[in-house]
Amino acid sequence: MKYKDSKKILKIIKRAKKILINVHRNPDPDSIGSALAFYEYLINLKKDVKVICPDKLPEDNLFLPYSDKVEKVDFSSFNFNNYDLFLILDSSNWSQVTSNSELKLPDISILLIDHHITSTKFGNCNLVDVKTSSTSEMVYLLFKDWKIKFSESISQNILAGIIADTGVFRYPNVTPETLSVARDLMLNGANKNEITEKLYRNYPFNGIKFWGEIIQRMEIDNNNRFVYSAIPYEIYQKFNFPYGSKEMAVSMFCSVVKDTDFGMVMIEEEKGILSVSFRSRKGFNVAEIAEALGGGGHIVAAGVSIRNLNYEEAVKKVLLVARKYAQKSN
Ligand code: AMP
Ligand code: MN
Ligand code: MN
Repeated sequence: MKYKDSKKILKIIKRAKKILINVHRNPDPDSIGSALAFYEYLINLKKDVKVICPDKLPEDNLFLPYSDKVEKVDFSSFNFNNYDLFLILDSSNWSQVTSNSELKLPDISILLIDHHITSTKFGNCNLVDVKTSSTSEMVYLLFKDWKIKFSESISQNILAGIIADTGVFRYPNVTPETLSVARDLMLNGANKNEITEKLYRNYPFNGIKFWGEIIQRMEIDNNNRFVYSAIPYEIYQKFNFPYGSKEMAVSMFCSVVKDTDFGMVMIEEEKGILSVSFRSRKGFNVAEIAEALGGGGHIVAAGVSIRNLNYEEAVKKVLLVARKYAQKSN
């Protein structure tokens, strides 16, 4: 058995009839893939299942099996009382689930499965494994403990989550076990080429041009060894709000600069909301910086949204905290 709580978790699931599953806000393939793999498993158990997300799924993820089952809902008016269990995946805090930090936790049994180092373990039962690459890999390990059969579609959803959270097997969160899991998923019919073509060789033209703008605005903070780029709303609007560009640009350009420890991309995605992505090199911990600003994540990849400050103030705040943590490591 990989997880000592595997049996207990299976019992909780078997007891429930009506099960809700989340896909977190600003959905990524790990949250979508892990949720859809669970969806398929639970409908096979004849459970009544609903998958909900506060946002629309990104178009490039719609090739994932059962992605049409994800319903965009407004968490502030959603009626949780109809369900016996809420399975929350890949979310370190409740506001990452709902997109709204004001909302209270619903009064329903919560089973949490996650791999964030900043997890607040807000479920009634929490399986948190920070050593595993992705929530999707955790789902694979749980399913193995439960001896379930891996269909082509379950394998595809899980492999997509692993590929995305490891930056296509580049980040240090990849272990020999991650590679054996990926191998086994491919042997069970997961199509790695479809995943990499759809997610990483399929960018809209305006998104690529926008990367040019991000690169133009890149600054190196020489003493403290980090790189950042900040984009105000008007520029983001000029490029027609390219989706997912921040995450790609921070991974590809801002966190790969020689002799630096980490990179950040900040985009004012809505007037008064500065969304920040952090990516680190050489084991530097960016989750600490994101957490100090009210966000969270992992050692190598973290994020935060700064609200209620104007653009200049928000950028200044992020730089101040980033410089403080960068100095600590010197
Ligand atoms: P991103 O840069 O948006 O891809 O986020 C990197 C990692 O940080 C992901 O694992 C996110 O789940 C996590 N993350 C991003 N924003 C937040 C937040 N506000 N609170 C907690 N975790 C976050
Ligand atoms: Mn995620
Ligand atoms: Mn994840």
